[in-house]
Amino acid sequence: MSAALKKKAMAIAEYLQANYDDATTSLDYSKPHELLVATILSAQCTDERVNIVTKDLFKKYRTVKAFADADLGELEKDIHSTGFFKNKAKNIKGCCAAIIEKHGGKVPGTMEELVELPGVGRKTANVVLGNAFGTPGVIVDTHVSRIAQRSGLSKNSDPVKIEFDIMELIPQKMWTDFSNQLVWHGRRICDARKPKCGECGMIKHCDFGKKSQ
Ligand code: SF4
Repeated sequence: MSAALKKKAMAIAEYLQANYDDATTSLDYSKPHELLVATILSAQCTDERVNIVTKDLFKKYRTVKAFADADLGELEKDIHSTGFFKNKAKNIKGCCAAIIEKHGGKVPGTMEELVELPGVGRKTANVVLGNAFGTPGVIVDTHVSRIAQRSGLSKNSDPVKIEFDIMELIPQKMWTDFSNQLVWHGRRICDARKPKCGECGMIKHCDFGKKSQ
């Protein structure tokens, strides 16, 4: 990583911190396992829709064990509106069963243990680590991926490669905040189809934005 790229990354981080210092995950949860379930549900679904579904879901299934013991068909119906419900229900049930079997019913707090759980990849693990456990992680969702590529922070399109590129550019303690702030910037300014480059405070640090001027 060049010094110039690191300097640009820090300038973007400072801009984001100044503008979105209260950015957090927009998924509603009160316990680590709820965030894990909500993150599994958020694949190919909006956080707004997930929050509508989990409002009742977390009242019906109050513990890891309740999810592990859930009737699969009933769980599928309960989460139907988030899409890909068959896979998601299977993963939630399997993931919670593994948490009981291997971790005494407590969501594990390391990347290595989390990615061993059914349906849990690095992105989901980093959401849980960063937001529920305070362990910094770079969360590469669609917004982070898009802005990393447009700005020139990463030349990769694979989310895991983007994650490692950002990890080299940004100090570890900032990883979770930086990711959450990029998501907020993506929702407000750097739209997938119509980025508002003219209104964007990052434009002087963004390859795509500079070309659009
Ligand atoms: S300048 Fe445009 S492309 Fe770059 S981050 Fe801002 S809105 Fe996105």
